[in-house]
Amino acid sequence: MKKIVIIGAGFAGLAALSRFYNYNKRQGLEVTLINDKQQFSFLPLIPDCLGRGIATEHLVFDLAALSYKKNFNFIKDKVTALELVKKEVSTSVLTLNYDFLIIASGSETNFYGNAEIEKSAFKLDDAQDAAYLRQALDEKDYDAYLVAGGGYTGVEVATNLRVYLNKRKIHKKIIIVERSSSILGALPEWMKGYVLADFKKIGIEVFTDTSIEKVTGFSHPMLIWAAGVRTSDFIQDLKVEKNSQGRIKTDECLRVNDSCFAAGDAAHFSYKNNFLRMAVQFAIMQGNCAAENIIRALNGKSLMRYKPVDLGLIIPLANNKACGIILGTRIQGYLPVLFHYIMCIYRTYGFKNKLGIIKDLIAGR
Ligand SMILES: Cc1cc2nc3c(=O)[nH]c(=O)nc-3n(C[C@H](O)[C@H](O)[C@H](O)COP(=O)(O)OP(=O)(O)OC[C@H]3O[C@@H](n4cnc5c(N)ncnc54)[C@H](O)[C@@H]3O)c2cc1C
Repeated sequence: MKKIVIIGAGFAGLAALSRFYNYNKRQGLEVTLINDKQQFSFLPLIPDCLGRGIATEHLVFDLAALSYKKNFNFIKDKVTALELVKKEVSTSVLTLNYDFLIIASGSETNFYGNAEIEKSAFKLDDAQDAAYLRQALDEKDYDAYLVAGGGYTGVEVATNLRVYLNKRKIHKKIIIVERSSSILGALPEWMKGYVLADFKKIGIEVFTDTSIEKVTGFSHPMLIWAAGVRTSDFIQDLKVEKNSQGRIKTDECLRVNDSCFAAGDAAHFSYKNNFLRMAVQFAIMQGNCAAENIIRALNGKSLMRYKPVDLGLIIPLANNKACGIILGTRIQGYLPVLFHYIMCIYRTYGFKNKLGIIKDLIAGR
């Protein structure tokens, strides 16, 4: 029986699993999923746990229960090393051989080696992080709220904080600190303008060309770190071509080599002289394509090329505003807010979770 190992139970890993599940109804494969947490976390609604009161329990899905239903082995452990030549994956307690591997371990917050900040700052890598952050907001008083990083996550988090504080009539400063010369990186100027105009209205300050090394000048500030991501340590140690974030460069079929594929945030896929941004839609399509290519390889068929389809992107702001580009068309106001939540509810796992999210959005605690 051929052994397939998938590292990471995010969007890419679970999309690959679905493809193998359908194939396995007819053919026998031994599929093993390794994830460092017991649960899948639905990341796009993590900031909404603050401003819209979405319960973190509605953003997780138990992987042991899924493994029973979808007939795969689940190992809850962190992958610490990968030997591409020997075809071996090692975790803290065991080493597994594989015939085919999919690296779908996503990305995690990058503190750039600043241990002091790592100890004191909040991050948003999963639902548990959002629960800690929400609990701290509920239980402690802060004299200012600092968000490091003016990318998608930083922008969403800042507006959610403002909505959270407004509901409790707390009038404190929210400041985004961005290292580069503008927020939202390579996004079009009109989107940056839209977001900045909203920030002005709801009271979010932005400092650009500034990096946080240490926080001083406030007696009890909350610092949320959304200033960059990196790939897992075992990828950093791999001797393969990577980009500056440590994402693995793949070929057009998502191969790292003949028996190893990479998908989602862990993969760097060149497209139209650029690389694909980190997004759920690409992670799902790549997870599916990597699994499809393994099935093709097992059956001696030629592999399919991954052809990205970009449906667009939305920057949702917690005060019921959003801007974005959908199917090449500019969109702003309330409509993209609706699109965003419809897509999130559609993409999340579990009927109970979908219902829970809808109820939480209506209640808006
Ligand atoms: C706060 C936030 C909001 C976002 N909002 C949006 C949005 O609105 N729209 C959008 O398209 N995208 C959004 N994104 C980006 C999107 O969530 C990612 O692009 C997507 O999750 C990538 O999927 P993935 O499967 O590659 O990785 P992930 O979903 O990150 O999953 C990777 C999995 O691998 C596990 N893992 C990591 N390292 C190891 C290891 N060494 N051993 C074992 N397991 C490991 C992780 O715990 C995780 O379970 C958001 C991201 C964040 C953080």
